[in-house]
Amino acid sequence: MGYIIKTEPHTHTMVSHHAFNTMQEMIYAAEAKGIELIAFTDHGPDLRVTADLLGYEKRDTVFYDGAHPWHFNNLKALPRRVGSLYVIRGAETNIIDYNGTVDLPNTILKKMDWVIASIHRPCLNPGTIDDHTNAYIKALENPYVDAIGHSGLAKFPYDIDAVLETAKRLDKVIELNNHSFITRPASVENCKKIARRCAELGVKVILSTDAHSIYELGNVEKAAAIAQEAGIKQEQIINENAEKFLTHICNRRGVDRSIFENTNPGE
Ligand SMILES: [Zn+2]
Ligand SMILES: [Zn+2]
Repeated sequence: MGYIIKTEPHTHTMVSHHAFNTMQEMIYAAEAKGIELIAFTDHGPDLRVTADLLGYEKRDTVFYDGAHPWHFNNLKALPRRVGSLYVIRGAETNIIDYNGTVDLPNTILKKMDWVIASIHRPCLNPGTIDDHTNAYIKALENPYVDAIGHSGLAKFPYDIDAVLETAKRLDKVIELNNHSFITRPASVENCKKIARRCAELGVKVILSTDAHSIYELGNVEKAAAIAQEAGIKQEQIINENAEKFLTHICNRRGVDRSIFENTNPGE
């Protein structure tokens, strides 16, 4: 396996229907790989796929495959520390309109430690460059959103400078997503462009696996190569190690670092 990252800021479990392992399996696998921190960022409840995209002839069926809102609301049932592993309560929310609205309410988002906002079809139809730019900027302006996920999507081009400058101003994070090389090959060229601009503007980034199974955990080889090629500095990568990631989220959310040492469930 290639480049292993020990701080996993973006992963999915079986509560997202197209991912394949339970949280417990992910935790065991993470520990076995020497991973120090795992953020569970299951898909927000609006994630869906329409029948035609799956090849069904009946075109009006919609299959939802995100997690239930109650999943996110009840993450307090988990400890934030299991053995040597930090377990981060997160979500990968869907941006559902060009005003950057995400598919979990603030009452739930504020209970999260870490929130990614991403565009997924068909939660949002492609619009104009201005529409996509506005969607990302407004999502970043949501105080509970920490990062923009896999924004290289070929069908959703945006004004890179406008979005990255907003991220920088608000101390938010742009993701370089390893999974994109498997599932979104058309986005790779955009990812390179975004990474280069992140390097030039000094925007914070994460290298993530977006793991949908234990077998993807830790491997960010391709995202790391793009970051290196773009000239992203080590200090820009907030998931370089667990402590750096925890410091970032504690500062952003104004929470005490000690909550991440709690081996018991609770708020
Ligand atoms: Zn995603
Ligand atoms: Zn994801």
